[in-house]
Amino acid sequence: MQSYRVVAVGDRIANAVRKTLRSPGQGHPAHTEAATGYGPCRQCLRTFTVGSERGILFSYDPFYGKGNLPLPGPVFIHENDCYDFLIEKTSEEKGLDESKESNGAGSHE
Ligand SMILES: [Zn+2]
Repeated sequence: MQSYRVVAVGDRIANAVRKTLRSPGQGHPAHTEAATGYGPCRQCLRTFTVGSERGILFSYDPFYGKGNLPLPGPVFIHENDCYDFLIEKTSEEKGLDESKESNGAGSHE
């Protein structure tokens, strides 16, 4: 089975986008709007509450400056500050470990 790793957009990039309303690297304009979909936010990795939360849409290339081909894609973050996923990750790691102990199958009720 192939594995993958999800890496959230960090505070530095998210805060720069909120401040400048420009995408990091390319400088494309960012767009703010009420959430019309659930997302998720690429900083906190939580879903948006449609209609009641606002997001910023911008193009993001996680490999900007590291390769020859531009690889930007559209991402959303919460318009207002949200927490960094890595902070919450430490409190959830215990849950992830419990999942591994049960081989990841079944529910934890
Ligand atoms: Zn968020």
